[in-house]
Amino acid sequence: MATERRTAIVTGAARGIGAGVAQRLAADGMAVAVLDLDEGACAGTVEAITSAGGQALAVEADVADEASVNAAVERVATELGAPTVLVNNAGITRDNLLFKMSVDEWDLVMDVHLRGAFLMARATQSYMVSAQWGRIVNLSSVSALGNRGQVNYSAAKAGIQGYTKTLALELGRFGVTANAIGPGFIETEMTVATAARLKMSFEDFKAFAAKDIPVQRVGQPEDIAHTVSFLVSEGAGFVSGQVIYVAGGPRD
Ligand code: NAP
Repeated sequence: MATERRTAIVTGAARGIGAGVAQRLAADGMAVAVLDLDEGACAGTVEAITSAGGQALAVEADVADEASVNAAVERVATELGAPTVLVNNAGITRDNLLFKMSVDEWDLVMDVHLRGAFLMARATQSYMVSAQWGRIVNLSSVSALGNRGQVNYSAAKAGIQGYTKTLALELGRFGVTANAIGPGFIETEMTVATAARLKMSFEDFKAFAAKDIPVQRVGQPEDIAHTVSFLVSEGAGFVSGQVIYVAGGPRD
């Protein structure tokens, strides 16, 4: 049976993993809201989707800001359709060893990852409940298992896992699933920045990382997009509250 066109929101979709996810969901037939801090920065992702025959809308919002999130979700519902697929992907790093970490570095990472994922799901859940169908995918990380220099980020990414499981418990009765993906090393500007911080060339950093990854390569945004595509698909309605590490091996 054919289903109606779903509307998806992908946060942090101007580049990196979010851009890859947005393009994949559009190719799967969804109308996609490409949400990021700067609407202009979304143009590349929107153009890639529309030139391939898909439907996309650039939406400017700060996921950590309540008013901004609520306005953005309302705009998506009006201009694109009721959002029943949400991918909480927006993320930042502010790495530092514990003894050097500032309160601002801690708070900023918590705000974008945890507050952001909370505000986005709270603003979209009513559309999913009305439709008695919804899919939420939250980006965690292998860093949730602990990573030197990332006490803030690892705590946020571990928090995302508990948050996801609770969403699954609360929303399951409304036909809504919630799952988390824990990427390993994915080639994006985030990992480019990590290489720079470690004073390594990106090529050396990737080669160094790939040696310890069972499949012997680093990941690409498409690797994550493929898993998101499965989790938001019609057929994945019995998969909920799970954390799937997409890391070329058991954890990285
Ligand atoms: P990225 O290339 O840095 O892209 C992140 C995007 O999120 C950027 O476009 C950024 O916008 C946007 N963003 C940041 N703060 C935002 C906010 N408050 N509101 C809206 N958008 C915001 O990162 P990525 O590597 O694609 O990572 C995507 C997700 O996967 C993140 O949650 C990350 O933690 C997770 N992850 C990544 C890896 C990896 O190896 N790359 C591994 C594990 C998990 P600006 O450019 O304006 O800052």
